[in-house]
Amino acid sequence: MQILKNLYQVSGDLNGLTWNGVDAGYNDCNSYILATQDGLIMFDCGCGDTIDQIYQNMRYWNLDPGQIRHCFLTHPHLDHAGGGHVLKKAGTEMIAVFQTADAVAKGDERCCPYLYHKVFEPFVVDRIISDGEKLQVLGVSVEVMHLPGHSMGCTAYLLTHENKKIVVSGDVIGTLLVGEFGWSGSIDFNRDLYLQSLKRFARVDSDIMLPGHGMIYFHEPRRRVEESLNVALMEWR
Ligand SMILES: [Zn+2]
Repeated sequence: MQILKNLYQVSGDLNGLTWNGVDAGYNDCNSYILATQDGLIMFDCGCGDTIDQIYQNMRYWNLDPGQIRHCFLTHPHLDHAGGGHVLKKAGTEMIAVFQTADAVAKGDERCCPYLYHKVFEPFVVDRIISDGEKLQVLGVSVEVMHLPGHSMGCTAYLLTHENKKIVVSGDVIGTLLVGEFGWSGSIDFNRDLYLQSLKRFARVDSDIMLPGHGMIYFHEPRRRVEESLNVALMEWR
């Protein structure tokens, strides 16, 4: 599904772009491809079992899966990072903060494989990044915002494309209806840090938000973050 010129959503079972199970749900995250002249940048890679569907979706848009040069992970949960071992073997540079890198290297409970009755195939992240860092990747500047809470590895990525400020938000906020925030069942869920992250994230202006599940926002995404913050502040006081 095309979002803007050269920007695509290539997985996500809530809208049926990929499918892994009997019902639409949270088995497979939204993953995104940004196409540049020098290759493709991916954000999250789905649960692993849907990688062929992702490749099929990519080919429909004339995106060659063999050209995925870099993959940024928003956090280590299986529905987001389970396909990482496939990309890694194909030569993609995997990029994440330390907390995500450590979890996917071990494939332990922080990746939540038990939720999906699966095994997480561990892999080594190639480039460890940290909060505030600005990376130049295939000519694109990507800013790292570490927002722990839903999991300790939660990271948003900010970039400008087609004169629009894009934020890839992972599961920092829920995106089905107003005022949701990410699932609180992770073994490394941390409520206090999550609140701090939401407060910080609610001050970030962007034009388009590419979330980890559900709908993309094209109008003042910050408002949705503020709604989530409001619910969190009320529920967790
Ligand atoms: Zn998650």
